[in-house]
Amino acid sequence: MSINVPVPPEGGAALAAEPAPSPLTDRFGRVISYLRLSVTDRCDMRCVYCMSENMNFLPKRDLLTLEELDRLCTAFISRGIKKLRITGGEPLVRRDIMRLFEGLSRHLKTAALAELTLTTNGSQLARYAKRLAAAGVRRINISLDTLDPEKYRAITRTGNHASTLEGIDAAQEAGLAVKLNMVALKRLNEDEIVPMIEWAHGRGADLSLIEVMPLGAIETARADQYVPLSAIKARLSERFTLREVDYRTGGPARYVRIEETGGRLGFITPLTHNFCESCNRVRVTCTGKLYMCLGQEDCADLRAPLRASPTDELLHQALDAAIARKPKGHDFVIDRAKGNRPAVSRHMSVTGG
Ligand code: SAM
Ligand code: SF4
Repeated sequence: MSINVPVPPEGGAALAAEPAPSPLTDRFGRVISYLRLSVTDRCDMRCVYCMSENMNFLPKRDLLTLEELDRLCTAFISRGIKKLRITGGEPLVRRDIMRLFEGLSRHLKTAALAELTLTTNGSQLARYAKRLAAAGVRRINISLDTLDPEKYRAITRTGNHASTLEGIDAAQEAGLAVKLNMVALKRLNEDEIVPMIEWAHGRGADLSLIEVMPLGAIETARADQYVPLSAIKARLSERFTLREVDYRTGGPARYVRIEETGGRLGFITPLTHNFCESCNRVRVTCTGKLYMCLGQEDCADLRAPLRASPTDELLHQALDAAIARKPKGHDFVIDRAKGNRPAVSRHMSVTGG
C-alpha cells in the first residue's frame, strides 16, 4: 500500500497525514490504536526489578533523532494510532525531549491523536510538568513503589524520594491527572499497599498495582520478587469494599473503586490474568525496533525503511508486514526452576511501560 506523508523542508518534522484508509489490524482482528514509544533506554535510576546494577546502554549514535521519532509517530497516527505514550528508560532524561512533546501536540489539535501521555519516574517533573501540560498532556503515570525514603533508595538504587514527591506535586499543580504505578514486590513493599492506597487517594491520584514481569537479566530470582496480585486483591477485599468499575484508559489495567477512599485502584496482571486477547498495543524502541508484543522477542526494524526514503511508503510496508506477525499473546511464567533466567532477554527499560 502507499501512503505519502509530506516531508518537511530542512529535515523538520513531517506534517500530519490525512487519516489513512487502512488501520493497523492484526490477523486476530485486533485493531492497533495504542503506541508506546521508548525515547531512550537510559535512566537516572536502576530499579531492582527493571535493571541490573551495571547496565550496558545503547550507543547514542544508534538512536533515532527527535525528528525521526516525530516522523515515525506521525506515520503511526496516520494509520489509526489514537493514544501515544512516551516512555523509556526515563523519557525526561533525553536531551530536548520537550521538543518532541511540543511537536506532537499538533496532532492533538487536529484530533488525529486523542491522547499524548507519558510514564516517568518523576525525578525531572518539577522542571517539566508545566511544559507538558502546555503541550496538551492531560494524564501522566508516575512510578512510586514506596512511601519510605530509605526503601525508595534501596529499590531504585539511585533515586531521591523527595525529588519524586516534588515531581508528583508539580504534576498535580500543573493540572495533570496523576496515576501512580507501584510494582508489587515480595517482602519489599507488600506491607505498604494499604498506606499507598490511602496516600494516593487522599491526594486525588489513582493507583495501579503491577505484577513483576520476567524481562531482562537482573541479580535476583524473579520468584523472590513476584507476588500474584490475585492474592493481594483477596487481602484488600477483607479490609476495603472493592467495586468493579468499567473505567478504562486504553491500557491493560482493570480498575475497582474503593468505597472507603472513593479512589480508583488498577490491577495490571500480565501473569495471573493476561488480557492478550484484547491487546491494542505495540511498542517502538529508541532505535526504531517495533515490538508487536512486550513478552516476545520478535521485532521489526523501522529505522532502515525510515532512513531509506524521504517518503513513508517503505515504512508503511514494514508496518503492515510486522502487524501481520503480532503474536496471540505472551508466555510469561515465573517459577523457581527458572531462577533468574528471564522470559525475554530485553529489560523493561528498552521497550518501556
Ligand atoms: N522510567 C519510567 C518509570 O519508571 O516510570 C518509565 C519506564 S519504566 C520501564 C515503566 C514502568 O515499568 C514503571 O512503572 C516500572 O515500575 C515498570 N517496570 C519496570 N520493570 C518492570 C518489570 N520487570 N515488571 C513489571 N513492571 C516493570
Ligand atoms: Fe528507570 Fe523506570 Fe526502570 Fe526504574 S523502572 S530503572 S525508573 S526505567
